Amino acid sequence: MTFVQIVVLAGGVGGARFLAGLRATLRAAAPDARVTAVVNTGDDVTVHGLRICPDLDTVMYTLGGGSDPERGWGRAGETWTVKEELAAYGAEPTWFGLGDRDLATHLVRTRMLDAGYPLSQVTAALAERWQPGVELLPMSDQRVETHVVVADPETGRRRAIHFQEWWVRHRAEPDAEAFVQIGVDTAKPAPGVLEALAGADAVLLAPSNPVVSVGTVLGVPGVREALLAAPGRVVGVSPIVAGAVVRGMADRCLPVVGVPVSAEGVGRHYGARSAGGLLDAWLVHTGDPADVPGVDVRALPLLMSSPEATAALARAALDAAGV
Ligand code: GDP
Ligand code: CA
Repeated sequence: MTFVQIVVLAGGVGGARFLAGLRATLRAAAPDARVTAVVNTGDDVTVHGLRICPDLDTVMYTLGGGSDPERGWGRAGETWTVKEELAAYGAEPTWFGLGDRDLATHLVRTRMLDAGYPLSQVTAALAERWQPGVELLPMSDQRVETHVVVADPETGRRRAIHFQEWWVRHRAEPDAEAFVQIGVDTAKPAPGVLEALAGADAVLLAPSNPVVSVGTVLGVPGVREALLAAPGRVVGVSPIVAGAVVRGMADRCLPVVGVPVSAEGVGRHYGARSAGGLLDAWLVHTGDPADVPGVDVRALPLLMSSPEATAALARAALDAAGV
């Protein structure tokens, strides 16, 4: 096949690393391949008047060689002068760290959004600088924000807080009762999303958070249907390794939707495409038991511990997709 089209549904850190491995694999094997990353925007938030898109930025910086390798998010060589100055004013929220370099991205984005450009065009403009080597699409141009229903520790009353407040400020500590995608009912997939899926030779679910990353993308009306109708195979990569999350707090999210924190649990949650679910194949870590009826389950090392290991994982995902 000379021209291969691959669509990846992705969140932040897990999605970005996987995409880097996929790009490396394809550069050698299929330089003409076209990769479209459909990225979760449910984490997006407005802070100090600026629109922040954490997952899009993580993918963009990682693929553009500008991300902090230790943290996995934000810019390399970051400084925090503005954050300190804001804190000196007591300007809330002080718990959301915006680095000086990172701020430039949010200034450009907010200015373009305010001028009327949709997020997909803003993202393309930002990507001009970073040249990520994949087509970077927000899942939607409309705002869809994940909120978390928690019980107030003081009053016991239930209230919904923004996902970032739960995740960053409270470190996902208060038990979540539910995740709510505010705005999802009227959201449409961003331009290019349905077209990419309709022509996809492979659809890959990155090892991203199944609930608040991949699950959020799949919640945009039309995306799930387009994925089910994609001509190529759908292959998922488990973000759960040896019964635990590798990083992040997906173990705080899965139980909320009744899914066991295991490769098998997530595989069954996604389900077999032949039975109305999503998956043709499911990649699990070596030694992780996973019986997912109707799905081609393959065990291999899933830790993205080096560029080589990550590229090998991406290669295995393409093999499972038959491309
Ligand atoms: P976030 O938006 O930054 O939270 O990132 P994602 O949703 O894209 O990814 C978070 C998920 O990536 C977590 O559930 C982790 O378990 C998973 N993850 C991180 N590193 C690895 C890895 O090396 N291998 C695998 N299989 N999963 C990983
Ligand atoms: Ca995220």
